[in-house]
Amino acid sequence: MSRGDHDDASSDPLYERLKTFEGRANTTGGRGKDPVNEPMIRHWCEAMGDAHPAYAGPDAVAPPTMLQAWTMGGLSGHAGLSSAYDEMSALLDAAGCTSIVATDCEQEYLRPLRPGDVITFDSLIESVSPRKTTKLGTGYFVTTRMDVRVDGELAGTHRFRVLKYAPARAGRKPESKPKPEPAPLRPRPVINRDNAGFWEGVAEHRLFIQRCTGCQTLRFPWLPGCNACGGQDWDTVEASGDGTVHSYVVMHHPPFPAFDPPYAVGLIELAEGVRMISNVVGAPYDKVRIGMPVRLEFQRYDEDLELPVFRALPGSEG
Ligand code: ZN
Repeated sequence: MSRGDHDDASSDPLYERLKTFEGRANTTGGRGKDPVNEPMIRHWCEAMGDAHPAYAGPDAVAPPTMLQAWTMGGLSGHAGLSSAYDEMSALLDAAGCTSIVATDCEQEYLRPLRPGDVITFDSLIESVSPRKTTKLGTGYFVTTRMDVRVDGELAGTHRFRVLKYAPARAGRKPESKPKPEPAPLRPRPVINRDNAGFWEGVAEHRLFIQRCTGCQTLRFPWLPGCNACGGQDWDTVEASGDGTVHSYVVMHHPPFPAFDPPYAVGLIELAEGVRMISNVVGAPYDKVRIGMPVRLEFQRYDEDLELPVFRALPGSEG
């Protein structure tokens, strides 16, 4: 999410009050409800589809991205913790900033967590931004930091940022007529060093699948390592473009800008065996069926965005 425009902070008494929360403890001396344990690691790995060998066996470590999981209080929460965060939220609510959206999260890992480790955690309000205006509305970015420790030693840090804001369209009835606006653009893909090769292929109207050079397992979407053997070396194979609809959903709600519900989102099984999520074109949303043969093509949505989509083959509609 873009941080939006930086409003004038010098004449914002609310911001001055919010600043006093910076550095205030939100949670002190929190304790994990369970020690780091193999069943939770196993469930996590199954849910994530991560079969990396480091997370199983007698020398198992916990996946680093589980960091926050060990601190979670579950439905019953953690008893007796003070909350500067609640106090600050109430202040923002009272000022009309009643909406909240999570914008990003960063984690740092300093030592691996292993089954049996008992974790403790402390969190604080690290920073509050000056008032910003975004497309969602006007409000403040609030960053909290949680430090997770084992035996007093810092194991990792979790930063979580939200925008607490006054909605730009507060009070507007959903049935009121929208003003004519330029057509909203589709969201941009997040291109990073792990998936850049995929998008370079798309620019040439080619669909590349990663292949582990260690065990030859194909993988999609693009990832830095192989889920089958943990190998980090890979090459690519080019998809033939043939596929079938393995499954699909029809999106009715919620409406997203640039999308016109109802529409079908397909899980396409490529002829090579991997699956990808894409749009099915060339068939009405209610004619998309499991098993429908489809063919890759590239659809241009705007000046900067071209995406692989799958066209229903003639006569294949259900
Ligand atoms: Zn492999």
